[in-house]
Amino acid sequence: MGFNEVRKDYLLERWVVIATERGRRPTDFAKKEREQAKTSVCPMCPGNEHMTPPAVLAYLKSGRSIKKAKDKNGSRHKNWLIRCVPNLYPAFAPPKEKLTQKQIMKNDNLAVAVGHHEVLIESPNHDEHPANARIPQLTHVINGYIDRLREFSAKPYVRYISIFRNHGIEAGTSLSHAHSQIIAMPFTPQIVEQELNASKRFWKQKKKCVFCEIMKNELDGPRMILENSRFVVFAPYASVNPIEFWIIPKKHQTTLLDLSPTEVKAFAETLKTCLGGLKRVVNDPPYNYGFHLTMNKDARDYYHWHLEVYPKLAVWAGFEKSTGVYINTVTPENAAESLRKTISS
Ligand SMILES: [Zn+2]
Ligand SMILES: [Zn+2]
Ligand SMILES: [Zn+2]
Repeated sequence: MGFNEVRKDYLLERWVVIATERGRRPTDFAKKEREQAKTSVCPMCPGNEHMTPPAVLAYLKSGRSIKKAKDKNGSRHKNWLIRCVPNLYPAFAPPKEKLTQKQIMKNDNLAVAVGHHEVLIESPNHDEHPANARIPQLTHVINGYIDRLREFSAKPYVRYISIFRNHGIEAGTSLSHAHSQIIAMPFTPQIVEQELNASKRFWKQKKKCVFCEIMKNELDGPRMILENSRFVVFAPYASVNPIEFWIIPKKHQTTLLDLSPTEVKAFAETLKTCLGGLKRVVNDPPYNYGFHLTMNKDARDYYHWHLEVYPKLAVWAGFEKSTGVYINTVTPENAAESLRKTISS
């Protein structure tokens, strides 16, 4: 009998047992029917705009171009393409008055939760998820991320901006209308901090970006999923989630703010292709995705933004929660092979 492999993340101090011995095929996870979130009235559908707080940003169709607007007072813009609204139950809320850094970070283990928590409604069409979105519409979504990122980056109390998406009930969303969330927060979260520290160490030793190196090493390897002129998609070596994949720009960039309009469109296409592939391989599984980026100017040489996609196909229980060691029953190599085949067929 052989052994399973225990793999360590490229950068994090995180180990995962990869079940190479009696692993599962990605298609083992396909279910016939997945439960849909049921809502009688969808607060995100057109016509129900009054059910949400006023939009802080809406893209409106204006002839052949896009007009950007905000809802004012009691009124709500109609005929929007995307709209961004404050979360009704924000984890982080804007300060009512100017706060000093000392008032925010009270001491080493206490901060006040200042920041922003918003929902980006991705389309007037309830079911226009990235896997089946029209490319121009998905391009608006990415541009919406970028607009909010730009606004939040300028706030003195914001240290990090998390842009993420929950898809499906098991992945934590209560509303099935296509939407993403954006959280601006007063500190850098642990995983990104660890990536920053590790990539900085690598830079000091080798004068190279570790993410550019990872990408180069994965190209043409068994975990490669897709390569086009702007992006590379692969299943990471020590994936903790079955069928996890990352999308990374070929050009060295630290944040989405560095994307040109052409690159935004290419990113939308890449995202749609990969999430569409995932949807076909596992019959529209629940998933989460999140961007890792930095606004730290000092990190310009050594950090490289990417999107991490985590299909929600396993349950993390006692072992994972108590040890921080994971068990992944699908090898990243098998995951990549399945996605590659589906995407190219
Ligand atoms: Zn809806
Ligand atoms: Zn790089
Ligand atoms: Zn990352």
